[in-house]
Amino acid sequence: MDLENDSYSNERSRNDLALRMIRHEARTCTIRECTGLTDDRIRRLYRSYAHELSEAPVRRRRGKSPRQVTFFVRNTRAQFESSLLASAFAAFGLLQPANMKPSNESDDPLDYGRRFCDAYETHQQLLNTQTLSFEHAWFLLRLLNRSGDLRAVRCRHCDSYYLKDKFNLCRHTCPTCRLKRARTRRCRAKPRKPCSSSRAVMHD
Ligand SMILES: [Zn+2]
Repeated sequence: MDLENDSYSNERSRNDLALRMIRHEARTCTIRECTGLTDDRIRRLYRSYAHELSEAPVRRRRGKSPRQVTFFVRNTRAQFESSLLASAFAAFGLLQPANMKPSNESDDPLDYGRRFCDAYETHQQLLNTQTLSFEHAWFLLRLLNRSGDLRAVRCRHCDSYYLKDKFNLCRHTCPTCRLKRARTRRCRAKPRKPCSSSRAVMHD
């Protein structure tokens, strides 16, 4: 009986995580990696549950997976959002020191997938919008744990950590400081219009 219950509970957990990832428009291969469900099972979940559980229509991602490192540092805003997501990864224990195995190879895949969703959803809540797709976030975590092309460095001005690609050797100011300076310049240019909203910084 306990074995039956364990089996049911495990199956339920895998389905729940798959549906959670479907709602974020994750690719089938990403869902399979975390849940162990077959492609056919995931496709059936898409068809039979996803549209019922979500108010907005759920799209299935097709085509090539994200693979460009520069996407995450292509401008100040993108670098700020990627750095914030990296902080969420760290907070949910998804980042590994360079000399350890990548986290999803040493952890329970279900637990890893859940923590990834927690980090991604936290990032969305902090920004109050969806800016990076689930698959870009998944790719970013892989980059941070495996490639070394992106690394966290400390800002000389505010001491916060931010992401920098290894090819960019000249910039030593973090995106938060750059966004603050841009906002200050705007406020000076228009002294009669107060710039008190934090959203003005976020949407620069
Ligand atoms: Zn800074």
